[in-house]
Amino acid sequence: MKKKLSLPMQILIALIAGIVVGLVCYFGGFASFTANYLKPFGDIFVNLLKFIVVPVVLLSMIDGILSMNDMRKVGSVGIKTVAYFLCTTAIACVIGLVFANIFNGAGLFPVLDAASAEYEAKEFGGFMSTLVSIFPTNMWKSFTDANMLQVIVISLFLGGSILAAGERAKLCRDVVSSAYAVIEKLMGFIISLAPIGVFTYMAWVVATQGSEILVSLLLVIVCAYLGYIVHAVVVYSLSAKIFVGMSPIKFFKGAFAAMIFAFTSTSSAATLPVSKECAAELGAEDDIASFVLPLGSTINMDGTAIYQCVATVFLASCANIHLTIGQMIIVVVTATLASIGTAGVSGAGMIMLAMVLEALGIPVAYIGLIVAVDRIFDMGRTCLNVTGDIACSVCVTKWEGKRK
Ligand code: ASP
Repeated sequence: MKKKLSLPMQILIALIAGIVVGLVCYFGGFASFTANYLKPFGDIFVNLLKFIVVPVVLLSMIDGILSMNDMRKVGSVGIKTVAYFLCTTAIACVIGLVFANIFNGAGLFPVLDAASAEYEAKEFGGFMSTLVSIFPTNMWKSFTDANMLQVIVISLFLGGSILAAGERAKLCRDVVSSAYAVIEKLMGFIISLAPIGVFTYMAWVVATQGSEILVSLLLVIVCAYLGYIVHAVVVYSLSAKIFVGMSPIKFFKGAFAAMIFAFTSTSSAATLPVSKECAAELGAEDDIASFVLPLGSTINMDGTAIYQCVATVFLASCANIHLTIGQMIIVVVTATLASIGTAGVSGAGMIMLAMVLEALGIPVAYIGLIVAVDRIFDMGRTCLNVTGDIACSVCVTKWEGKRK
């Protein structure tokens, strides 16, 4: 009897096949084939993921809150989760800055002429107005705009209110759990298509970005990837080891499917269904993972923080600005906030980089120098972002005394 390949295995094969086809198209000179005929299938897949992301986050969080059955427990899980996210993100910023300064100090960063940089940044209203905007005025608008921070606030309020209403909210509880069961089935189907998405996107990236990788920005990319790898190995696998007693190999093996998926899709939100499966495989409790993962895919972005630190040091050096220790501290604070504000979608981290640059007086148009290779940075940072969410769900499960 033929055994069906597991999803992580299928994804791995799709990844390798995508790289091979991408290289053939790149060297064969028909890169446009991948853009015109392969990428659209990846786009269909990502569209499907985007279409379920709002119901998944909404229902998963409410369902998680209802299964905890006690607002005190939600508070306890919430505090531990946010504490883990903030600490790891601050460490990520430090790692990013250390690597960027080593590379910069050793003269490894190229000096690019900013005259060619063209980038139009969007205005940031400042911290207080960002805080206000998290609270929705119109629930449906939050859904149609896929404004995930607002969707999270709505989930917290609705989940808490259903709990508070007790017996009278029984119908609502049943509706949520039944709707979530339907969405889970749909998610399962969409995830089974993941190898198609991974294959087509990988072939497209390799075929179309190949030449760009080879040019001057290679060392900046290497610097960011070193930061990503060190953070994953040191912070995540160590926290899984220290707090949960799980070996790094077991951790990365369990998180593998979500990591590869995030790497190719460049969207934490889109990877959410796969992250849930991986977290369950690693022993995270269902109600905790249902709460931690959607929250993490919206606010926990350690890869993005590392990228923003590396990019800031690099662009500062292009602008001939030498960052002082005080300015580095500003980078840590603003990159942490910017990564929290970054949406879990492709390319969002680069848009939020503008906030960090603005805080330091570096011309935002300089982002134009790295925009062409953003996808390469994004693949690694999303992979790290998602790994952090999974590590957090496993640790919080342990801290809540749920894991043997
Ligand atoms: N693409 C990243 C994510 O979804 C966000 C970013 O652009 O940094 O996690």
